[in-house]
Amino acid sequence: MRALRFADSRCSVANVPDPVPAAGEAVVRPLRVVVPQGQTPGNVTPGSDFVGVVQSTNVPAGSPLAERAKGLKGRRVVGSPSVPCRTCDLCKGGLSHHCRARQTIGLTRDGALAEAFAIPVANLTPVPDAIDDDRAALARLVAAAIHASQLVRLEAKTYITVLGDSPRALLIAQVMAKLNASVRVLGEHEQRLSLCERWSVKHRPPAEVGRRQDQDVVVDCTGAPGGLALAMDLIRPRGRIILASSPPPSNLDLAPLVDGELELLGCRGGPIDAALDMLASRQVHVEPLIARKVKLDAAAGVLNSPDPAGLVVLAEV
Ligand SMILES: [Zn+2]
Repeated sequence: MRALRFADSRCSVANVPDPVPAAGEAVVRPLRVVVPQGQTPGNVTPGSDFVGVVQSTNVPAGSPLAERAKGLKGRRVVGSPSVPCRTCDLCKGGLSHHCRARQTIGLTRDGALAEAFAIPVANLTPVPDAIDDDRAALARLVAAAIHASQLVRLEAKTYITVLGDSPRALLIAQVMAKLNASVRVLGEHEQRLSLCERWSVKHRPPAEVGRRQDQDVVVDCTGAPGGLALAMDLIRPRGRIILASSPPPSNLDLAPLVDGELELLGCRGGPIDAALDMLASRQVHVEPLIARKVKLDAAAGVLNSPDPAGLVVLAEV
């Protein structure tokens, strides 16, 4: 079958063996996959966000997953790319999301930018008919925005600043604006920021914002060295900073965390069922975040040189 692979740090379509599902796994035929722009080249097929159709399952009759597997066959599904070991202390303690030996589809094991890939049945969730393929592929991004919004304590009038204007940042702003909070996005990209207007979200370039330490919540989606420093300049004492993208290593002065008695929270993953509910009832608009759709061959090109608009590119497999 055809799958994207890296060779000498370049991505291209390769002919690879068909996936062999382990016990408890399904083979999924992807319909749409979010092209992971800017991903570090690895030795597996990329692609962590997908919607696809369950082709087959490898679940023995009588196993606790048998009924679920049967119900999923031929269904359209989305799924979590995080594959826990199910044997470590965290998995056994109910924290499999933080498994000590977890693998990630598209990063450490073969992902969805292929004609088929294997994934545990337990990771899959059926997609309601009301959600088309394009929007379903963004379910995990919506789930992440819901998770970030669940970390916000809503007080009388909550002032929230979202740092960055990536699709993730824009979705977080959109979902948080529904919480009756005053939300503004600080970003540099005019085309992306203009999307904020339709969601009643204010936007400014970071340079135009006063460092008044008056925000109740700052969500850093930049993944950039200066993100957390800027967040500490903007947050009020006892405010909450949410890190929604991994910052690079730095020698940042963390004294403001102590002085301001700040809370710093990491945020990863999110509730996929709630995301599908929001998408099905059109409470969240993801279409404007999709720049274009490409075939598998062209998806390799997008991995090699990311889309200039910085919006979502979907591969139609
Ligand atoms: Zn584990």
